[in-house]
Amino acid sequence: MRRPRQPLHRTVYPFRILGMALSSLPVGAVLAQQQANAAWWALLLFTGLLWPHLALWRSRRSRDPARTERQNLLVDSAIAGLWVPLMHFNLLPSALIATLAVVDKINTGIRGLWLRSLPGMLGAIVLGGLFTGFAFAPETSMPVIIACMPILLIHTVAVSLNGYRLVRRVHYQNQRLDELSRTDPLTGLDNRRQWEEHAQQVLARRHTGLGPATLVMVDIDNFKTTNDARGHAVGDDVLRGVAAVLRECIGGHGHAVRYGGDEFALALEVDEPRALAIAESIRRQVGELSFVAAPGLHCTVSLGVAAASPGMSLRRWMVAADTALYNAKDQGRNCVATPTRHRDDPAAATIGDVREAAH
Ligand code: GH3
Ligand code: MG
Repeated sequence: MRRPRQPLHRTVYPFRILGMALSSLPVGAVLAQQQANAAWWALLLFTGLLWPHLALWRSRRSRDPARTERQNLLVDSAIAGLWVPLMHFNLLPSALIATLAVVDKINTGIRGLWLRSLPGMLGAIVLGGLFTGFAFAPETSMPVIIACMPILLIHTVAVSLNGYRLVRRVHYQNQRLDELSRTDPLTGLDNRRQWEEHAQQVLARRHTGLGPATLVMVDIDNFKTTNDARGHAVGDDVLRGVAAVLRECIGGHGHAVRYGGDEFALALEVDEPRALAIAESIRRQVGELSFVAAPGLHCTVSLGVAAASPGMSLRRWMVAADTALYNAKDQGRNCVATPTRHRDDPAAATIGDVREAAH
């Protein structure tokens, strides 16, 4: 079970605490070198320690927390910009803090946020420059370089971890999408596209002499009546129950699909007698199904079995199995038939033969 996504301000909050505190180290190192006055130290205290909590408070009490948090993110960039002239453009911490402010905006995944943060950052650089008379001292001393290290290292690792988590999530979601696109959500059986690929492979094996191929069409009898009398939820239970029987009976012999509504198709890598046995076993087991939500309900299925002939296309194979299914319905339902032979046809495998083969 995956945790639901946090609101943006909750996600940003710990990163802002960490980022602002770590940025304060090089800024503080430069201020100490400059022997800055108390006002700049008070500002550092505010941006480094208080601002993250104020930002959270602003988002929490906002009617539109996401919008307020986006504003907070723009304020972060403006704060970064402000420190550049206040540090007299000290090269390494200025470049570092301004770059990380942009990187953080990109990492939010909010389209164009980093671009929208630039005017505020540049404005703050100009505003701070007006305060300091654009004092310019770009040389970075060793103590300031050392003070830059924590944010440089920790930020890089944090961004990488975030990227890793994102890649994992995308991978997981791609897998889920792949599964969903391959299966019928109600029964968990293959969906049509997926099944047709399997059926084509089974047919290709048959045509290259690598093994037999038989198609079985299965349709629930009088399913409309079940839906009408017991409701669609029970109808869904019946569909799931039939799907479970199909899965169990075909084992590793092939692939099953809910072809649509109450109709299923099985592409089996077995010859016709074996497919008739499997079909009969399905017919019998569906007849034995019981449903907690509908005591006393018994359902039956009709099945059409068609072996693939040489050179047959999937389309013609399906038409043959459909004809067999029609024959089974025509026979009175709850039975197995082939395209040309019915169970009362002397040329057909008798239902007794089929039952024998099933055991
Ligand atoms: P027959 O014996 O001739 O097959 O009669 P039938 O009543 O089963 O007729 P048909 O196969 O045409 O009925 C299909 C019904 O399946 C109609 C539709 O309401 C129902 N159905 C289709 N999809 C679903 C589904 O996902 N859930 C439920 N509960 N019913 C469905
Ligand atoms: Mg039906």
